[in-house]
Amino acid sequence: MITLDNNVGGYLVRAFAEGHAVHAYIVEGDKAYIPSLLKQCAVVALCPSHTACGCDACQKVYDDVHQDVICIPRENRARLKVEDIAYLVEESSMRPVDNSIARVFLIDATSSTSGIGSDLWQNKLLKTIEEPTEDTYIFIGVTDADGLLATIRSRCQTLKQTRLNSKVIANELKRRGYDQKTSQIASVMANGSLQMAEKIIADNSIFEAYNTAIDTLENMLSTKVALPYVSRITNNTANVAHCLAFMTVLLGQSLHYRIAPELFELTALKATIDKICANYSIQASRVCIEKINSAKKSLDDGCNLNVVVDNLISGMLEVRYKCRL
Ligand SMILES: [Zn+2]
Repeated sequence: MITLDNNVGGYLVRAFAEGHAVHAYIVEGDKAYIPSLLKQCAVVALCPSHTACGCDACQKVYDDVHQDVICIPRENRARLKVEDIAYLVEESSMRPVDNSIARVFLIDATSSTSGIGSDLWQNKLLKTIEEPTEDTYIFIGVTDADGLLATIRSRCQTLKQTRLNSKVIANELKRRGYDQKTSQIASVMANGSLQMAEKIIADNSIFEAYNTAIDTLENMLSTKVALPYVSRITNNTANVAHCLAFMTVLLGQSLHYRIAPELFELTALKATIDKICANYSIQASRVCIEKINSAKKSLDDGCNLNVVVDNLISGMLEVRYKCRL
């Protein structure tokens, strides 16, 4: 038995069991969790009983060796190209090769729904979705289904990742023996997914990125010391997004702490939040959150990492200075 996200996986299992599975699905969830959600969809589609029972077919998908699971973008690129869809079109006309019941296409579109070329691949995909080949299933992973073209959305069914309240997740983590600070941090960063929270806790480099975020907001107070922070953030290349995301959460929590205490959750990080409140006025915190979000978007659009982070850090210092209390 392979554990499924109870919403996405459970819904698909029922759809196949009841005979109303469609050929194209949009899978909406947390960016870091999309690859795993897409894989779960492939398990359900290719498992002969569609139950994710742990059989050979299930296990092959799980181990990334099933030949009828085709993942795009290819070559570990973040952004989709029209060529990826051309490849999908070509491959979808072929019969299953791995002694299996269908071919499954997993499209990670989390970095491809905005910016240059984002409508090109979607328009190319549209025709395949409109006239699906028999025994072909397409799953499109996104963080926000509304970012896709309306024509794509209207031809797919949307599955959403289950989202739990972060306090529920924090309590469950504590019950499983994690300390309060770890539980709280993982719960606010897990986007409503207990599995994601455990994945975060198991990955030291993600926590290192969180510590960088804490240190930056606590101690980076002038342009004289800015450079080491820029390199610390950019050195942990794979986890820059985690670092930036945690910075927005910390600034957001500092706002809650000052304006809406009932929404303040990171009680185990009160000393950090106190320092952030002293460093960033309410106005400065708000503007910095906007700046971090637009930096995240620039990175998703493929802009140069060092340039983006460098601009962000100097922008934040400027805001900190301009929006003093
Ligand atoms: Zn199975």
